[in-house]
Formats: sequence, C-alpha cells, structure tokens
Amino acid sequence: MPELPEVETVLRGLRRSGLGRRIDEVHVEHAGVIAGKPVAFAARIEGRSIADIRRKGKVLVAELAGKGTAERVYLVMRLGMTGQVTVQPCAEPLEPHTHVRMRFAGGEKELRFRDVRRFGRLRCLTRKELDELLLSLGPDACQVTEREFLLAMRGRRGAVKSWLMNQQMLAGLGNIYADEALFRARIHPLAQPGRISPPAARRLYRAVQTVLKNAIELQGTSFRDYIDIEGRPGNYLQKLRVYQKTGTPCPRCRSTIRRMVIAGRSSHFCPHCQRRPRQVAAMRGPKKDAGKPGKSSQTFAAG
Ligand SMILES: [Zn+2]
Repeated sequence: MPELPEVETVLRGLRRSGLGRRIDEVHVEHAGVIAGKPVAFAARIEGRSIADIRRKGKVLVAELAGKGTAERVYLVMRLGMTGQVTVQPCAEPLEPHTHVRMRFAGGEKELRFRDVRRFGRLRCLTRKELDELLLSLGPDACQVTEREFLLAMRGRRGAVKSWLMNQQMLAGLGNIYADEALFRARIHPLAQPGRISPPAARRLYRAVQTVLKNAIELQGTSFRDYIDIEGRPGNYLQKLRVYQKTGTPCPRCRSTIRRMVIAGRSSHFCPHCQRRPRQVAAMRGPKKDAGKPGKSSQTFAAG
C-alpha cells in the first residue's frame, strides 16, 4: 500500500513530466474510481493545465488552471491499496485495470491511473472543498515539528501503532513505515502514546523522520503493486528491518521477530528490543474477524 515515500516519489515524477502540461482529453474506463459522473469529471479537467502538484500525507493534489480568470480546480488523487499513476506514450498498450487516462496536449503522452483493487479515488474539488479535505488530516509526517508531534501524543491511550497510522493525527504513515519507525525507536506497538516517556517519544519522532527520509531517497518500497510514474519499483524493500519479517532474527539482537494483530492490522516487532510496557492499550478483543492471526498471534483493538 503506497505510503508517504511512495506518494512523494510519484509526486516528484509528476512534477518532472506533467507540470505545465495541458490535459486535452480525459477517458474514464471505470467510473468506480472517480467521484461523480465521468462526463462531468472529464469536462472539469479537459483544457486545463497542471499549474502545481503537491501532497499532504498520502493525498496527491494537482492544481489545474483554466484559461484566463477561470477558477482553478484541484484533482485529488488517492492511490488506496494498489493505485498506480504513470505517464507514458499514448501508443503503449493499456495494461489491465487501467481505469482513467488523461491525454496531454500534443497527443504523444498521457497520464494513466491503474488500480487492481480499486480502493484508490480521483476527484475534482473546488478550493474550498480541497481546504476542508486537507484540514481533516493531521500534519504531514515529514513536515510535522517535534513539538507538534509530542503534543499530539499527549493523553492518547490507544496503541501507538494505531496512533501513528491515524491520518487525522499524522498524515502519511501506513503499516510499513509505522512498524519500521517503532522498531528504530525501540517502542512496543501496544504502548500508549500518552504514557511513552519524553525521551522515547523524541526517539519516535526522529525515527519517523529518518525512516521516511531514507525511504524517499530510495523511491519507496514496492511490496505489491507500487511503481513510480515511469513504472519502476522502489528500492527500500531491502532496507526493511521488521515489516513482514516474522520468524527471522532481529537485525539488532537476533531475537525472533514476532507478529501481532492490532486493530485488524499486522504489526511486526522484536519482543526483546521493543519491550512490552506494564500498561498497554486496552484490549477489546480478541475479535475473530480481525485480520488473520496465526496460532501465535494475539489480537488487540485500537483502544
Ligand atoms: Zn531485537
């Protein structure tokens, strides 16, 4: 699932190959991945140029400028689980699950949105709607200051793993980088943010920054479907230390990495380096339908 580093990589690619270009024609092959009716969606975009591309957390926003004083519209792209944005020659054969195509002026290249699972969404918003959407998100995980980060942790009693992934608290982290940051900071995924000591909380802040920065430098992690806009996978996969490493030795202490289900999501951690605190997030489980815990897994609710 694309997280902040993958979306940032797509953003940088789009800046290189899409910025300033006019979108002449929009084809919606599958209306399920857009908001509204395909005809209206296409009409709002066609003829406009990409004036700016930015990001908050995992949300990509292309600012589209029309002719003269026409109001700008904002194309919001969420990649969901398996969304891919590429820019490629129009003549290249379409891959299955390509749902939207936007042909650039000149007719040689187009932006394609492909999404196997179809949890991704493209929508066109006004400035006001965009501002509301961005306000509903917490600070971007790369931009957040240490002070804001520590303040947001205050009083929180749920699992820190869920807190890190809560987009209203902090925008950008998903399962991969939350697990990696907690390992780096030596914090148990069930620890409660409000009860984490100030030095450990600062360690977590720095771990989040380091993990994201390193992953962006390596163009993200390609676990399943993620690719950049030229179709290349990310290179951070080899750097993962705990994510999906259940049963393998911890790179720090050689203890066996374990897996636990928290709020329906797998958490990977080292039981030695990430000691379980005396007080942990409230356990509301085990729920039978939360994820697919193995025999040795425990299930916890978000709390
Ligand atoms: Zn360890």
